[in-house]
Amino acid sequence: MSLKFDIQPSSKATPEKERAAKLVDPGFGRVFTDHMAIVRYNQGKGWHGARIEARSHFPLDPALAVLHYAQEIFEGLKAYKRDDGGVNLFRPDANARRFWNSAERMAMAPLPEHVFIEAVEQLVRIDRAWIPGGEGSLYLRPFMIASEVFLGVKPSSEYVFTVIASPVGSYFKGGPAPVSIWVSENYTRAAIGGTGAVKCGGNYAASLRAQAEAIEHGCDQVVFLDAVERRYIEELGGMNVFFVFADGSLATPPLGTILPGITRDSIIALAKDAGRPVREEPYTVEQWRADAASGKLKEAFACGTAAVISPIGQVRSASGDFLIGGGAAGPVATGLRKQLVDIQYGRTNDPHNWIRKVL
Ligand SMILES: *Cc1c(COP(=O)(O)O)cnc(C)c1O
Repeated sequence: MSLKFDIQPSSKATPEKERAAKLVDPGFGRVFTDHMAIVRYNQGKGWHGARIEARSHFPLDPALAVLHYAQEIFEGLKAYKRDDGGVNLFRPDANARRFWNSAERMAMAPLPEHVFIEAVEQLVRIDRAWIPGGEGSLYLRPFMIASEVFLGVKPSSEYVFTVIASPVGSYFKGGPAPVSIWVSENYTRAAIGGTGAVKCGGNYAASLRAQAEAIEHGCDQVVFLDAVERRYIEELGGMNVFFVFADGSLATPPLGTILPGITRDSIIALAKDAGRPVREEPYTVEQWRADAASGKLKEAFACGTAAVISPIGQVRSASGDFLIGGGAAGPVATGLRKQLVDIQYGRTNDPHNWIRKVL
């Protein structure tokens, strides 16, 4: 199937001065560009109507399937401005593949991977003036909703795929500050056979209560345990987790119920390139506490597209608190973060061919 995007530039593009003002300190996810990409699906026509057009509201029928049964999936990736003025995407093919897997799990129409990539690239090109320089980037949010107007519980026969874009500042000014995390003993995130491994909106709705509990306990983020034994560390609400040991090796929870992060996969590759063994194996919270106390564990960090790598300084739970590496950012997390960010911005070589130059 080939789909040609009909490009309709906005007639009300933001004036340059106003755009520059918005780019000064954009924060995360509050400022949006002038355009969006949109592709529609119905059973008769398949995927059709690919367009780049002015960002605008959706007309929402109150019986739209997504509003009732939450058939919704999304992705998150970034466009980075290089020093030569060009623009990089980081592993968009991996996001496209994961989006396909998410659609299959949610009984939605899977979007061909090349259409996903084309939509992202076209949007980045038309909104290139919105990509911040320096350590900022353009966060891209592809998503798909069930758009059939019908209240029956069944897979929708219609979908809308959209990509919107939001300029974001550096997540952490002056290097990543260590985060504190709360071990959730009341809530779990995912069970075998469930939807933990896909990026569907419902997973995040279900995690918010646990995240609120973390904040009530003075923590930045929540970490979930497995749903069966309630001992094995799984991941944060929206980030994967790594452990760094005194012998130089790394460990991270195995795939299955966790979200297969592209940052996680990239860190595994970079650590192995550097000669560090990486184990994908279950790790309990009791072992984590014991290893932090004995000095066997040197660092822990969370990772994902938005924040790249966040060192974990403190772990708190109903059964007590402990510090990791004295609560400070460690050299392995800091080094991996720098290497990954340098690849993303095209400042160092890209041994795995992860960069796709859009401009
Ligand atoms: C998106 C996400 C991640 C990180 O994935 P990246 O591809 O690295 O951005 C990790 N965990 C959850 C639950 C996520 O939603």
